[in-house]
Amino acid sequence: MQHFINVILPIPLEKLFTYSITKAEANFLKIGMRVAVPFGKSKIHTALVAEIHTTAPIVYEAKEIHQILDDDPIVTELQIKHWSWVASYYMCSIGEVFRSAVPGAFLLESETLILKNPESIVQEDALTDEEFLVFEALERQSMLKVQEIAAIIDKKNVLPILKRLLEKNVILTKEEVYQQYKPKLVRYVKLGEKYQSEDALGALLDSLSRAPKQSKVILSLFQLQGRNQKKITVKELEEKSESSASIIKTLIDKEILEEFFVRTDRVVFDAAKKPSLLKELNEYQEKALQDIEASFAENKVTLLHGVTSSGKTEVYVKLIADCLAKGEQALYLLPEIALTTQLIARLQNYFGQQVAVFHSKYTVHERVEVWNNVLTNKSKAQIVIGARSSLFLPFSNLGLIIVDEEHESSFKQYDPAPRYHARDSAIVLANFSSCNILLGSATPSIESFYNVKQQKYGYAQINRRFGDVLMPEVELVDIKELTRKKRMKGHFSERLLQGITAAIEEGEQVILFQNRRGFAPIVECTTCGHSPQCPNCDVSLTYHQYKKQMRCHYCSYHMALQQSCLACGMATLNTKGFGTEQVEQELQQIMPKLRIGRMDLDTTRGKHAYEKIITSFEKHELDVLVGTQMLTKGLDFGNVSLVGIMNADNLLNFPDFRAHERSYQLLAQVSGRAGRAKKRGKVLIQTYNPYHQILQQVSANDYEGMYTDQINERREFKYPPLNRIIKITFKHRDYGKVEDASAWFAKSLRVSFADNVLGPEFPSVSRIRNQYLKNIVLKMKKDQPLGKTKAYIRKIEKSFDSIGQFKGVRVIYNVDYI
Ligand code: ADP
Ligand code: ZN
Repeated sequence: MQHFINVILPIPLEKLFTYSITKAEANFLKIGMRVAVPFGKSKIHTALVAEIHTTAPIVYEAKEIHQILDDDPIVTELQIKHWSWVASYYMCSIGEVFRSAVPGAFLLESETLILKNPESIVQEDALTDEEFLVFEALERQSMLKVQEIAAIIDKKNVLPILKRLLEKNVILTKEEVYQQYKPKLVRYVKLGEKYQSEDALGALLDSLSRAPKQSKVILSLFQLQGRNQKKITVKELEEKSESSASIIKTLIDKEILEEFFVRTDRVVFDAAKKPSLLKELNEYQEKALQDIEASFAENKVTLLHGVTSSGKTEVYVKLIADCLAKGEQALYLLPEIALTTQLIARLQNYFGQQVAVFHSKYTVHERVEVWNNVLTNKSKAQIVIGARSSLFLPFSNLGLIIVDEEHESSFKQYDPAPRYHARDSAIVLANFSSCNILLGSATPSIESFYNVKQQKYGYAQINRRFGDVLMPEVELVDIKELTRKKRMKGHFSERLLQGITAAIEEGEQVILFQNRRGFAPIVECTTCGHSPQCPNCDVSLTYHQYKKQMRCHYCSYHMALQQSCLACGMATLNTKGFGTEQVEQELQQIMPKLRIGRMDLDTTRGKHAYEKIITSFEKHELDVLVGTQMLTKGLDFGNVSLVGIMNADNLLNFPDFRAHERSYQLLAQVSGRAGRAKKRGKVLIQTYNPYHQILQQVSANDYEGMYTDQINERREFKYPPLNRIIKITFKHRDYGKVEDASAWFAKSLRVSFADNVLGPEFPSVSRIRNQYLKNIVLKMKKDQPLGKTKAYIRKIEKSFDSIGQFKGVRVIYNVDYI
């Protein structure tokens, strides 16, 4: 009898691929192990075993595998089941899910570039002969392809060797290098090993009696350490002992002091610290907890709808504690930008070292570590906090998933495939793993609230802020009149300036929200109306004052700001619109003494820039924080009494069926940053249109009113949650091809779906990186069988692919697009 395996290759193939294996291999292999397989002419890929069987493929002759790469599965069968669901629901291949789910280091292939890990100190005698050969080759040439390495050491199967070298940290893959960042190290000192005993120490101090400066350093070290032996940085010691770097260096050279480095960027938890006791819930939290538990008992997905600062996190903590007590794993999903150390620290405070963080900004090595800890159910990763991709970790014993800020659109992956929604995929995962799942938000998505209304989801509510702090008072400031009468100071109304002054006088802090980046998004010539465009994309360049540059936000094209118009040559360029940078500047001019910070994509590029700004605001080193969307996310600042929204209108006027829902969520969330601790906060919203329904609803904190309006609109125009939508995007460098291809496709779809096909239409930005885009939107009734519809679309795609004229046009599906 012949044996075969079906494997998942990390590339967009429609089907699993079959390879032949020996009987011995069949006995050894398990689903979820990796194998190295030949694919195409000469490529070697890492593939994942998905099925083991004895049926030969019909269409082609199965090739042999090269090598087995694992002793034990690195992926569970449940994961494979979940990935298949993701692939089929979001219309991509399971290979694409595989590729995005596992850390890059798991996917060696012949084209992968390998380099030496510059940070590792290699113990050559710990390497086998073959490993050493590879290491040596990389000493001579900085970078080699896997297939080149194979040629150098004259061995076909190098992947297992490379895998071991990766594990030993000797090499890196190129992908990792891109992601590498220099970890920030802080230099600490402690007393040398030899002087730990009291006798030795006495002798040391005696011997230093003629070196008063040195002995002062030692004595200062003791003073600083105090009773609890805290870690002392070199800098602290230098200051305290009024000595110099060279004196400390002398002591280190003499081995009296010993230096050591600690990375500050990793969320390190002091193991010696005792976890805090859980907070006692107030009656409203308690009631919500009971409702959640009752709903869990019925195996229902549950929504916790609690106003900002109602103490939702403490309720999550209780649920997590219960989950851990049962010995089960917990997953805490957060939208990308909300991954703050604030929350991580809060959870670590309760759960200590059981908390692991999984994030795309972490190095591959760190991600592999979390992966393995989750797989083997280590106590170090009982709780995983992570952004959407942590959904794909190899949980073996999942008891609880929390999706915090479930309304956030960044839970949906946009590019590349799989274009999945992490909240919805988490619900499916919870179902497959028979575990509980809680969605939490102060401003639930219309989708989730609809499911509550349909009694599909359970519901718990907290209507009060913790400590009975009142919801902030919202005031709408009409700037239309003020602008007309020229009574605005830049973009500030008198009312807003008064508010800021009053708050600062009370020693309180202020947050200003402006939904745009850069200084002034657009530069326009007042003579001819020309505004500089990106040569690669169909957008105007935005002006960034800090670098005096015009930049494209889609492809990073940039050029220096011109003195005169490129079209007509007149020196009449004017800035239009305004961004965070200008808000910051104007305010600084009006109130020179204010300490103002800014938080947007430009100021938070580095890995820690974000934390730094937050920390300095927390420590009250800043009076005012100006920022974009980033400010809305689950930040907890106790001292903010005023939130100012510079201009609500550009949110409301966005051309998208979700614009109103989004505006409500954004404004309510930003407002929620005001008055979290004791005092009632104040929110000032500047707008040209104070009678806008959404602004009225935000002021009245009328979520239900907003929901009712929106659901009616969605029903009328056949949008989610009442209908499903799939967006099909066509992409090519050639404008005409995109036109023809999308028109053909739309026509074919209309045969079956008639009016439920919208478009094709150009999106608002119709060319990105020199590729034209055109969209078709397909609306489907909820009861229309999804599988059939998708199969039908695929059939159309097959015919489409066979039309020579459309060759090279990319077709991209986005199911439930956001
Ligand atoms: P939310 O997540 O709903 O915005 P948080 O959980 O951040 O609210 O709670 C707001 C503030 O109230 C936090 O500072 C938190 O520590 C505090 N808090 C919440 N619940 C309790 C409790 N039961 N006992 C003491 N403090 C609490
Ligand atoms: Zn561009």
